[in-house]
Amino acid sequence: MTQTTKVATTLILIGILAIGAAEIERYRAHAEILATVAGFSGERAFKDLRQLTQFGPRPAGSKDLERARAYMERQLAAAGVEIWHDPFVAETPVGKISMMNVIGVVHGATPRAVMLAGHYDTASIAGARFVGANDGGSSAAFLLEMARVLSKRKNRLTYWLTFFDGEEALKQWSADDCLYGSRHLAEKLAGEGKLDQIQALILVDMVAGWRLNILRESNSTTWLSDAVFRSVRTLGYGKFFSGGPFPVDDDHLPFLARGVPSVDIVDLTPFGSYHHTVQDSIDKCSPESLSVVGRVVLATLAELERTG
Ligand SMILES: [Zn+2]
Repeated sequence: MTQTTKVATTLILIGILAIGAAEIERYRAHAEILATVAGFSGERAFKDLRQLTQFGPRPAGSKDLERARAYMERQLAAAGVEIWHDPFVAETPVGKISMMNVIGVVHGATPRAVMLAGHYDTASIAGARFVGANDGGSSAAFLLEMARVLSKRKNRLTYWLTFFDGEEALKQWSADDCLYGSRHLAEKLAGEGKLDQIQALILVDMVAGWRLNILRESNSTTWLSDAVFRSVRTLGYGKFFSGGPFPVDDDHLPFLARGVPSVDIVDLTPFGSYHHTVQDSIDKCSPESLSVVGRVVLATLAELERTG
């Protein structure tokens, strides 16, 4: 072997070893992400979903919403999560209604917070017994399971698991008749100087449909939406997040308007949807869809825990 050949052979060997090490590191990082996201149980969340729908229609101000809220609070307390209440009276086209946002707090090493949010009220649909399994039920069930997962581990960031009341219109969706809970909480936190604490708001809405198809909600903050879709790619969930841009008016808007980076993970497409029909019942929901979204959110949180 000439000197040149020896050098070339050595360089090739070093190259092979370097590629091997990078591959091993890639597999290790991937295995770590899979382990991090495995804790979210779609099955457990589905049990909460079933329980919530059994309370019947749950519009803002109703007795059945109160019963659903008591159930949610029992689950949060069992997870050892601190509960904040945010009661307020909303002026609606059908009169004054007492509403209540509920916030489960999981304290981290820093007060910097990520708000994970969804609504727990259901639309009131005239002449129909609308139980809102996906729309109102799934977001609340999702947050309950997230509370169990986050309270069991050590976090750097603090988590505010926020259950909004009064997302739905009481009469007809308009700027003044919708998003009562989120409008109220955004204003209240701004008044208390607490809005700056929130690094990111991740909103979920309608995340249990058996034909899960989540688009890229186009009011959302680009860097945060990018982080969510990076998690989707890492986990190989592209078929559930087809990703085309689509705008949705939802509880993130009052926070976006006040400069809080926000993303809405929402399954709302105009085609073949059970949205606001009596077909939005538990038989059209699946534990697997809840798991998929749970894992995507946990992978995104892992990134925020490193950088946020
Ligand atoms: Zn709705």
